[in-house]
Amino acid sequence: MSKLKYEKPVISKITAGVPNKFGMPAKQRIISEIDGIPVPKLMEDFGSPVFVISEQTIRDTYAEAKRAFETRYPKVQFAWSYKTNYLDAVCNVFHDEGSWAEVVSGFEFQKALSNGVSGSNIIFNGPEKSEEDLTLAINHNACIHIDHFDELYLLIETTRKLNKKARVAIRVNLDAGIYPIWDRFGFNYENGEAWNAINRIMLAENLEMIGLHTHIGTYIMVASAYAVAATKLSNLYMAIYRKFDHWLKYIDLGGGFASKNTLKGAYMPGSETCPSFDEYAEAISNAIISSEIPHENLPVLFMETGRALVDDAGYLLTTVLANKRSTQGRRTMVIDAGVNLLFTTFWYNLGVFPSKEVSTHVEESTIYGPLCMNIDVIRDAINFPQSKVGDQLVIERVGAYNMTQWMQFITFRPNVVMIDLEGKAHVIRRKENLDSLQSFEVAIKK
Ligand SMILES: *Cc1c(COP(=O)(O)O)cnc(C)c1O
Repeated sequence: MSKLKYEKPVISKITAGVPNKFGMPAKQRIISEIDGIPVPKLMEDFGSPVFVISEQTIRDTYAEAKRAFETRYPKVQFAWSYKTNYLDAVCNVFHDEGSWAEVVSGFEFQKALSNGVSGSNIIFNGPEKSEEDLTLAINHNACIHIDHFDELYLLIETTRKLNKKARVAIRVNLDAGIYPIWDRFGFNYENGEAWNAINRIMLAENLEMIGLHTHIGTYIMVASAYAVAATKLSNLYMAIYRKFDHWLKYIDLGGGFASKNTLKGAYMPGSETCPSFDEYAEAISNAIISSEIPHENLPVLFMETGRALVDDAGYLLTTVLANKRSTQGRRTMVIDAGVNLLFTTFWYNLGVFPSKEVSTHVEESTIYGPLCMNIDVIRDAINFPQSKVGDQLVIERVGAYNMTQWMQFITFRPNVVMIDLEGKAHVIRRKENLDSLQSFEVAIKK
């Protein structure tokens, strides 16, 4: 038998046996493997830190969302929100499942095309579309979601130059009881701006109006807000039929479903408070099928769900670099993954877990990243067991937004690995190195 490892003594108040409102104190959860591959093996093969994505989890989550909607509404089409995670391997899992692409820039549009998505299955959102971007979208017959009047006029001009038609929808912003209202995007419903935009589009000979879109916000915890939004879009849909005898093809309710992450300041864990896909689907389908729209003219329902479809599939594996005590006596720990890789740490109390059985001494701790920056805090207060230098930890639910909003700052961005359905790990984005970064720099020759 090997000698037990030395553990620093701690003094802690004995609270054993005192149940809190959720029952007895739970045993520290550990995450020792991902889809059958032990965490130490992943880190040995791909380094530390390393992002790991589970293809199985993506497909399971997608199937769950699809089932929730398709059992309640006859025509549903998901479009993968590229900005949530646009690594090709991730997008291609969604496309393989039947998802279209939802993009918000020329770059994302090109990425979707390069992933083999046909232009007519690309939804082009966002307030920044240049003439060049619009030309690309028109030539590929994409669904262009107009954000503002200046874009509308530019689009009319561009279709004239090209002598081509464009398929368009408008983004509508509306009061769904979610505040602040994201009224910086699209045309307002309540003040008549959206109706005005629709009338201008119906007048423009080169524009074919095919849909209505809204995206009311992100991490929306009340499903009923979607019912309000769906009702308002259904009203516009009927108004267009009444005035122009024209049926649109679709209503697009955007993204915004909450993931199971816990928001900072939340009293209950996100896994308890996050509505299920069933609840969202119930609210949305109720509103549309009970609206004035005749059932034979129901629109296709587009969903652009991002966060809720991919957050759970992503993990960040990291190593403990140091244990410290602050001047106040607080236990602190430094790990090798910083906020430059974890943009969502500004929003969420991310779940951090040991990868093996650890000490039973749990102490309120602060977890710092490795950056030489005061803001580099992964968790400011977490009950965490004693860990030793070299211990491997797993941060869960990091699949959404981190791998697009990450920054190359002080350190290289690490490998990203996907575990396929057979349980094999593949690098899907290589770790950066000095050459890859310097390849963008241009030396000044003297
Ligand atoms: C970001 C975005 C989405 C995805 O939002 P989630 O909150 O991640 O579901 C969908 N549609 C539009 C227009 C977006 O900007």
